[in-house]
Amino acid sequence: MRLLIAMMMHETNTFSPVPTDWARFEDWGLHRGDEIPEALAGTNMPIGAFLDLAKEARAEIVTPIAAEAMPSGPVARATYERLVEAIVEPAARGGIDAALLDLHGAMVTETTPDGEGTLLAELRRVAPGLPIACATDLHTNLTRAMVENATAMIGYKTYPHVDMYAVGEQIGRVLLRALDGQVEPVMAWGQAPLLAQTLRMGTDDTPMRGLQAMTRSEEAAGALAATLFGGFPLADIHDAGVSAVVVTDGDQAGAEAACTRLLDAAWAVRDDFVYNHEPLAEAVARANSIEEGPVLLLDHADNVGSGGTQDVMTVIREVRRQGLRDVAVAAVWDPEAVRKMQEAGVGADVTLALGGKTEMPSVGLAGAPLEISGRVRSLSDGTWVVRGPMYTGITVSTGPTAVLESEGMKIVVVSQHHEPWDVGIFTSNDIDPAAEHYLILKSRIHYRAGFAPIAKATVTCDGEGVTTSDNSVLRYVQVRRPIYPLDQFG
Ligand SMILES: [Zn+2]
Repeated sequence: MRLLIAMMMHETNTFSPVPTDWARFEDWGLHRGDEIPEALAGTNMPIGAFLDLAKEARAEIVTPIAAEAMPSGPVARATYERLVEAIVEPAARGGIDAALLDLHGAMVTETTPDGEGTLLAELRRVAPGLPIACATDLHTNLTRAMVENATAMIGYKTYPHVDMYAVGEQIGRVLLRALDGQVEPVMAWGQAPLLAQTLRMGTDDTPMRGLQAMTRSEEAAGALAATLFGGFPLADIHDAGVSAVVVTDGDQAGAEAACTRLLDAAWAVRDDFVYNHEPLAEAVARANSIEEGPVLLLDHADNVGSGGTQDVMTVIREVRRQGLRDVAVAAVWDPEAVRKMQEAGVGADVTLALGGKTEMPSVGLAGAPLEISGRVRSLSDGTWVVRGPMYTGITVSTGPTAVLESEGMKIVVVSQHHEPWDVGIFTSNDIDPAAEHYLILKSRIHYRAGFAPIAKATVTCDGEGVTTSDNSVLRYVQVRRPIYPLDQFG
């Protein structure tokens, strides 16, 4: 048996000005051929599970490409074409028995709003009837093309995504059993007219905790896989929003019924998917009064992991204005500032125009650097290995990295975008996050994977940026209407 195993992952924020080209995939992780088992076997990723399953089944593997980029704007045309070509080419050559694909589910490119559906349709065009299993992100914006061109699909049930391997293994086994003739997967899918906010999708919280429990109940009751996607709302595409897909063993009516149950349940709690705002100054003042740290300050409107530019200084500026001390920040993207600190050297005093290098026309924001003086505390190459529960075992690179210390604040400054979901972003730069009173994190939910265990309190800070949870500053044109909460339902 020959299995095609590949990964193509990008969560596209159509409001983000950050370009997504081949180099951005190389920055996060782009592997080809034999490098893939070497780099990704043993990791907590769906592709890690696919590689293990292939070994267990004594299958020959064809691993053309495994590529992931940090979330950002639409994927460049040439980059997308290269990715698709790499995955499709071995299938077109023939001799492939099935494909196991580790995808994101919310990829938008310059040429299509549905990067995954378009890839799958192309695979099926060159290899009609090819059995294909996909594991996708909880933030998938599910489309008809994805479902119609796959044999079996599943999404993560956790956010932060700590079950990537588990869902990969689950859907991989479904496909292997189907190849053996033990099961006959059929799928039902649907969408709710609901644009849920990412900040309200944490699976330890209401409403996702209960909804994900329902998916597990559907599986306990016999579904081969049941998934409720929160969707990715920072994509102005027709299919953005909440959806569900259920795989059963030959029971189409059962799959339809389970899918409807999941969508109805999500719709019933639609108000819980809406984030309630708090003025930034009030949130920071509230944080200032919390005596026991670390207190996490979430700069969620500039969440790198959803396409944020990671250089909006609004929250940092307010925290300094109110005089909070013992603050560590992960992280500000500013390669130019890193270069200046490298030139100055560790221990040197520097004055910088920090951050604010990126214009954000989609939300009417201009880049606004922060004038800041301080001391270069450390310099590093920004490479470290994740030990926490999310992306465990993956080598991370934030590019050349420096820490600026100024008025009770230690700011990690990076050259490559990186969402702080693991304490390694601090510890690899000689900062003990547990010893700080405040941690400003440019993250929304994923920070919980690494930081929830040490946090004494969390304050959500409504700053500015292209990952804002304020729908009024996002101009939606393409998304299907009516959709809640952009539209009210009677
Ligand atoms: Zn996600």
